[in-house]
Amino acid sequence: MEVYMDGTFVPQEEAKVSVFDHGFLYGDGVFEGIRGYNGRIFRLNEHIDRLYDSAKTIDMKIPITKEEFSEIILETVRRNNLKNAYIRPIVTRGIGTMGLDPTHCPKPMVICIAIEWGAMYGDLYEKGLTAVTVAVRRNAPDALPPNVKSMNYLNNILAKIEANYKGGDEAIFLDAQGRISEGSGDNIFIVKNGIIHTPHTLTNLKGITRDVLIEIAESLGIQVKIVELGFFDLYTADEMIVTGTAAEVAPIVKVDGRIIGSGRPGPITKQIMAAFKTITEKEGTPI
Ligand code: PMP
Repeated sequence: MEVYMDGTFVPQEEAKVSVFDHGFLYGDGVFEGIRGYNGRIFRLNEHIDRLYDSAKTIDMKIPITKEEFSEIILETVRRNNLKNAYIRPIVTRGIGTMGLDPTHCPKPMVICIAIEWGAMYGDLYEKGLTAVTVAVRRNAPDALPPNVKSMNYLNNILAKIEANYKGGDEAIFLDAQGRISEGSGDNIFIVKNGIIHTPHTLTNLKGITRDVLIEIAESLGIQVKIVELGFFDLYTADEMIVTGTAAEVAPIVKVDGRIIGSGRPGPITKQIMAAFKTITEKEGTPI
């Protein structure tokens, strides 16, 4: 496997970052998770835009243009002969002094990793996932905005650890006010009486797959409402869905021990999963 690092492609074994890089020292950096299907990169421009927006929020100037970055992503996929790719562009703050001040890091470091990757949840797309709400709250938007896809994923990792102990396939975060926020690596939707509901994106990542789900629902004539959701809405949902680049569109059939709907992926969920598959098969930037 070849990894792009700061201007060149290097073999996997040589793809190493300095211990003085602030990405390593402080989680100071941003990244994306992108998928390629059948030789096409899905929603590439949207991911690139979000990467640059994340960087701007943490006051980091990515040293290459969006067009150059897109080309690096395509070339990484090409060089590794990937058909169904999972791509990880990363921009770290770069090498600096031991203090945390980013003004002492002269140049951000651009990295791109790409691997072959299929369905993240295996047979659970058919059976449905079990989710648990977790005690740890999603980072507050006035502390570290969850809209920034930063290299600091400890908040999400704490949620995942808790879900593992509680026997959940995925964790569901509440925000500081006790409203449903998102999963550890995906956005959340519930279906109630034929209408899809999802939280606004102040307290979660503005998911690109979330937007795809909303587009699909609109094209199928299913109404989507952006609302505040609590425990009650989760436990009484007819269907539940999480979306993410890695997770894709996945059904949740149990939350905190409560069975959702029939305990199997529901009809609207299945319709959306099928439409998502069709879109990912035909859309995208050719590599
Ligand atoms: N929330 C979090 C915390 C995530 O890490 C992800 C994955 N990027 C998502 C939501 C879903 O975002 P997307 O659909 O853009 O992958």
